[in-house]
Amino acid sequence: MKGWDAPCYAHFKLPPTIVVEQGIVKYRFYCLVHPDRYVTRARHDDATSNLRRHAFKECPSLNEHQKSGQLTVAEFARGSTYSSARLRLKHVQWFAVNHRPMNLTKDDAYQDILRMFHAGVEIMSNQTATRDILDVFKITQAIVKKKLQNIPTRKHLALDGWSSPNVMSILGIILTYVEDGQVKTLTLDAVRYV
Ligand SMILES: [Zn+2]
Repeated sequence: MKGWDAPCYAHFKLPPTIVVEQGIVKYRFYCLVHPDRYVTRARHDDATSNLRRHAFKECPSLNEHQKSGQLTVAEFARGSTYSSARLRLKHVQWFAVNHRPMNLTKDDAYQDILRMFHAGVEIMSNQTATRDILDVFKITQAIVKKKLQNIPTRKHLALDGWSSPNVMSILGIILTYVEDGQVKTLTLDAVRYV
């Protein structure tokens, strides 16, 4: 039964029953839902096309939705790593690290895309996104602080002042230090309203 991990096998009672038809040893796979139905194949044959046809196209337990090849909600959820918290964290990364505007969560086409992947998706407001970014900032701040305290070598600071296209003054802080024989840099961007 090595390699029998294709999803179609889950539809049948395992191990299969061994039968001999015209001198050929065969496996007979009985359907778990309709035990009067079965699919037979030669023991040396590893092809799953007949098993898949029964499990995903012809079994009477399937509804029309499934026979048309669309995924059920349960199947869909199993194939998705979505959780409300994970999406919120990904949005924080998108907005704060990749510099995307938070208004994107209001975009109806984007909302449709999210619902396409998970029908029950929770789409957060801009206010939630702002709070999440602040929360992640506070958590990260403590970690960065600890990281800086634990660097045993000298630390060199470089300052980089610049203006963003919306005339916001930004102060970038670049920290250089040596760790494990390698020169490393840590870039911290701080916004200053001047
Ligand atoms: Zn079946």
